[in-house]
Amino acid sequence: MTGTDADDAPPLVDAAWLRTVGERVAEADGLLLCLDFDGTLAPIVDDPDDATLPRETRQRLRQLANAPDVTVAVVSGRELSDLRERVDLEDIHYAGNHGMELGDEARVPDAVAEHQPAVRSVVDRLRESLADVPGCRVEDKHLTATVHLRGVPDDRQAEVAAAVRDTAASVDGVHTSEGKAIVEVRPDVDLGKGWVVERLRDAHPDHVPLFVGDDVTDEDGFRAVSDRDGGVLVGSRPDTDATVRVPGPETVTLLLGWLVEAATDSFASTPVGSDDAPLTPK
Ligand SMILES: [Mg+2]
Repeated sequence: MTGTDADDAPPLVDAAWLRTVGERVAEADGLLLCLDFDGTLAPIVDDPDDATLPRETRQRLRQLANAPDVTVAVVSGRELSDLRERVDLEDIHYAGNHGMELGDEARVPDAVAEHQPAVRSVVDRLRESLADVPGCRVEDKHLTATVHLRGVPDDRQAEVAAAVRDTAASVDGVHTSEGKAIVEVRPDVDLGKGWVVERLRDAHPDHVPLFVGDDVTDEDGFRAVSDRDGGVLVGSRPDTDATVRVPGPETVTLLLGWLVEAATDSFASTPVGSDDAPLTPK
């Protein structure tokens, strides 16, 4: 992270923002809390297979899922089955593959299904062409694919990313997007995390929406709640549509704890700690 990134990033969550959220939710009918998984709820680890929900975070998510008037959704780039297994909580809405796989409906939108052969073809080609690159993993998530660069030697990452872009460009109906040490292959379908958030907002029109996420694909989610200043960026980067940010997943846990207390108090008068350190560990 550079100093410039921090300068251009939105302000840290402060007491004023928490008070505003508390007041809005108290006036409204409830809270719609949408969260990304990796880098947001679960700390980033070298091997994505090792990513887990910290115990305290899980406990707070469960309390929120059980709270009246709180709707919780986890919206991830992971495949839906993988995401469900890792979160493993009931009364939560799950959306995988950046929202193309909806847990509630257990079906894939037709437009996405039509593009599956194209994604498959890119996966097959990349598995062949990148087979000799050490540490490179091509994850087939069926509707999308992720090429993981974290294990690839630093001096070869740019070359691998270029190979993914070139291969995807040679197949009709797919495009790539880049995140933290990953390149994603996605169908040319206008469905993303924002689409899921909009559907949830339609289903819960009186809930105050928040979207918490860390990566570029989360911008879609931030835009879907920007009319209510509900985007919370985890980490720091410029060019975001989030309204505020928190430093990392451990502060997301604190934010969830504050929301649990607020939900218990009907959001009316929840203390926010000191103005300098509104989210502090107990
Ligand atoms: Mg993430």
